[in-house]
Amino acid sequence: MQYIPDSPNAEEFINDREIRESIAYAEAHGNDRELVESILEKAALCKGISHREALVLLECRDPELQEKIFLLAKEIKKKFYGNRIVLFAPLYLSNYCVNGCVYCPYHAKNKSIRRKKLTQEEIRNEVIALQDMGHKRLAIELGEHPVMNSIDYVLESIKTIYGIKHKNGAIRRVNVNIAATTVENYKKLKEAGIGTYILFQETYNKQNYEQLHPTGPKSNYAYHTEAMDRAMEGGIDDVGIGVLFGLETYRYDFAGLLMHAEHLEARFGVGPHTISVPRLCAADDIDTADFKNCVPDDIFRLMVAVIRIAVPYTGMIVSTRESKSSREKVLELGVSQISGGSRTSVGGYVEEEKEEENSAQFDVTDRRTLDEVVEWLLKQGYVPSFCTACYREGRTGDRFMSLVKSGQIANCCLPNALITLKEYLCDYASASTRAAGLPLIEKELADIPNERVRMRAGKYLEEIDEGKRDFRF
Ligand code: SF4
Ligand code: SF4
Repeated sequence: MQYIPDSPNAEEFINDREIRESIAYAEAHGNDRELVESILEKAALCKGISHREALVLLECRDPELQEKIFLLAKEIKKKFYGNRIVLFAPLYLSNYCVNGCVYCPYHAKNKSIRRKKLTQEEIRNEVIALQDMGHKRLAIELGEHPVMNSIDYVLESIKTIYGIKHKNGAIRRVNVNIAATTVENYKKLKEAGIGTYILFQETYNKQNYEQLHPTGPKSNYAYHTEAMDRAMEGGIDDVGIGVLFGLETYRYDFAGLLMHAEHLEARFGVGPHTISVPRLCAADDIDTADFKNCVPDDIFRLMVAVIRIAVPYTGMIVSTRESKSSREKVLELGVSQISGGSRTSVGGYVEEEKEEENSAQFDVTDRRTLDEVVEWLLKQGYVPSFCTACYREGRTGDRFMSLVKSGQIANCCLPNALITLKEYLCDYASASTRAAGLPLIEKELADIPNERVRMRAGKYLEEIDEGKRDFRF
């Protein structure tokens, strides 16, 4: 098999030989100061670097050079994302699943987990609970089950979610994380108005993938790996990729992740909208001691920084699998989106699950409420954002990417962040969060460089005080 970045064939665009050769190259050159510095020089142009160059940076152990890597990641983060952090919540609709993934408690053979699928009425109640927290952006999650979790059920649920208007609440963007499917079904999701289609590869190592997925449709490596190609063919141009770090050596999956991004760019002219970096953690019948590749904190930090450098235009997500302190460390290095107040059980927002009722996919490490997360972000000088403007303005796919690449997106993100934060502070925040947020909005408003935008944003912020909602740039 040859390495062909724009091939439609999984084993050509995620090419095992290319990954192994790149890792060997990086291991041999990771501490070559001249090479590392030349890669950093290229990266400073903010046009990205190749998977092989990124692997070299990931292999670098010289503290001084590592500091340069962190510094550049912070600069790029600042340039493209400012100090904004977008917030979202996962919504678990059903944990029925026919697959046999050995690292996930939803696997079909697990008899100890409580199976549950939400009715449309229950979805309504969950969404109202999420709206009452202040969320505007959801990611729906389901196991793979052709009967219980059919595409019609998914479509009906999306319609239900978008249709709920409760007080000042509204879910303005539904991202969807469902199993790899057909072009026809992706077209249906596009028509239903989804935001990003998210599918994690879990691991890019085919042999390991097949062992980790012994049964069920997901065991087909090529079908799973080529899912984003079908999604794009179906008209979905915002896709979110990720692996579950810890299933395979981090070097292999890090390379695979960047090669997948390069492939989408080469074949469709638009890279992934987001990259998620979950790390394996414990859950119902899953013990992390069974996995020998768990990623240590210092490598995780370096990995986040190098991803930021390698794909500056791609948003990066960390979930509540990570602890508060771990999230704190990676925010400044490149993460642009986090979940907050998450429940990973089916129906968990209306009623928090009792221990014996386990239906959760993984144990949440960061168990703070959304309000606590918002206040924590504010106190560190970040602007928590509930913005969903791009998708609603049709700025997706290459339209979105060309705006980001030209730097013009900066004129939308900050005012939108301030407007949606103000809505949050008025409608949902505790007194202490409000007290932390209002002065920050004033300060940040003055930093909007474009005068016309600044004036208009100021006017919108005043109108929010008068009870108006849903402004956007
Ligand atoms: Fe099912 Fe997804 Fe869990 Fe695999 S990871 S068992 S497909 S829910
Ligand atoms: Fe995201 Fe677009 Fe909003 Fe910026 S303006 S935060 S890119 S949705």
